[in-house]
Amino acid sequence: MSDETPSGDRPLVIRSLEFLGGMATAAGWRPESSLPEVAFAGRSNVGKSSLLNRLFQRKKMARVSNTPGRTREVNFFKVNDSFVLVDLPGYGYAKISKEKKAEWRPMIERFMRYSTELRGIVLLLDARHDPTNDDVEMLDFLSELGVPAIIVLTKIDKLSAKERPKRIDAISRSLGLEEDQTIAFSAVTGEGRDDLGRAIDSLLTQPSWRAAP
Ligand code: GDP
Repeated sequence: MSDETPSGDRPLVIRSLEFLGGMATAAGWRPESSLPEVAFAGRSNVGKSSLLNRLFQRKKMARVSNTPGRTREVNFFKVNDSFVLVDLPGYGYAKISKEKKAEWRPMIERFMRYSTELRGIVLLLDARHDPTNDDVEMLDFLSELGVPAIIVLTKIDKLSAKERPKRIDAISRSLGLEEDQTIAFSAVTGEGRDDLGRAIDSLLTQPSWRAAP
């Protein structure tokens, strides 16, 4: 459905994309920018690289984010000279040792607490699975900080027509969300691409939540 939209009407059309660099440690370098930021988060393997490729139609981006060494970093990209896309490290990967696992948390937390221009987070959940403890912790953290979140259910093409509404209902219930607060997405079919683009556009045009009374 989303692929039928004429390209001229598509939300979030990318004209330029520039890799600004990566933040490797919690206290580490990050780009100075006055542009609004939107960050993407999710468990490892949730489909974040595939989603970013589909959203921005640039293989380059996911290649940077998947370069060994960069997968544990917070990676910053300037898009259209108008906003900064932040690719947060995938969290909670079972094969990573406990110490490694613990690294993402201070880094993600520091990024969120101190990014004055952050407008919101796109949180990815695998549509096939119930949210993990890590997912729930991440959502709790976002609501504690008051960061607006867009919830995306990835790999939706892997569900049958029958399973689909059941899974969306189960995930929404377990997180206390309304179903219309989630966007079903497939990197394979492109479903949800334009809905997500519109949601991001609208996040970016809002004032920072930090400025709210
Ligand atoms: P990341 O670790 O979050 O960046 O996840 P990837 O984008 O690398 O995806 C993990 C695996 O899921 C890969 O094998 C992808 O091909 C697959 N995948 C990602 N998104 C989709 C999707 O929308 N549909 C299907 N069928 N597979 C997907």
